[in-house]
Amino acid sequence: DINIQLQYAITRYGPGDRLMVVRDVTRLHNLEQMRKDFVANVSHELRTPLTVVVGYLETMLDLDDDLNPRWKRPLQQMQQQASRMQALLNDLLLLARLETSDNPSEDELVDVRPLLEHIRKDAEALSGERGHHISLHIDGNTRLHGIEGELRSAFSNLAFNAVKYTADGGEITLRWHSDAQGQHLSVIDNGEGIAPQHLMRLTERFYRVDTSRNSTTGGTGLGLAIVKHVLLRHQGKLEIKSEVGKGSNFSCHFPPERSV
Ligand code: ADP
Repeated sequence: DINIQLQYAITRYGPGDRLMVVRDVTRLHNLEQMRKDFVANVSHELRTPLTVVVGYLETMLDLDDDLNPRWKRPLQQMQQQASRMQALLNDLLLLARLETSDNPSEDELVDVRPLLEHIRKDAEALSGERGHHISLHIDGNTRLHGIEGELRSAFSNLAFNAVKYTADGGEITLRWHSDAQGQHLSVIDNGEGIAPQHLMRLTERFYRVDTSRNSTTGGTGLGLAIVKHVLLRHQGKLEIKSEVGKGSNFSCHFPPERSV
């Protein structure tokens, strides 16, 4: 396969002059493909040994009374970090799959109502004793052509982020509505917000606003990259509005052709 990139420009040499640049980007494409395959393969290979490690750690922690108390804390920390690694590998694999597989021609018919109800409950469970108020408002058509698993990943990433980056007891709203422009999901929080200089880069892989603080929230830095790719595959768009100290609004827009 040969990949070429065409650039067409109107030059300033004279009226009516045209310049066409044909560039061979085959090597670049192949390198990019190799990078994606490598990440996918490594993530896949690391998953099995890690499952074994996590399994044994859980068994040891279950020993409880038989466990030397000095070992309890280190084992708990090992288990926590190993679980983080599992989450990271799962996200890397999902992202690799989203980047490499073709856009699906045969989509499923998805009703987002039960999906969003589940996500609201899961977000509440994640919040736990932190006591966020999480509400769901649905208005209009909730059925669209899409891939349910991918939509679930995208929406739950946004809802879980809202919990992670909003102080205890904060307000989080999931709002679905449909109109002539299409179908829209907004995830709104009154949390810490994001400074304008970060907004453009948030969907980059591993981009995090405050890396020191974020190590305690346990994210992977891949969540919004996943959201962006899922939306791209659904011909949708992600819109982010945020103000430091006031909160954020992450909106997913789906074109009207998607609705059923
Ligand atoms: P992470 O795993 O770090 O949450 P994401 O890709 O999901 O990775 O998000 C990237 C960064 O965007 C986060 O580290 C955080 O700094 C910021 N962010 C995401 N969602 C919110 C939100 N609702 N409020 C404030 N900051 C957010």
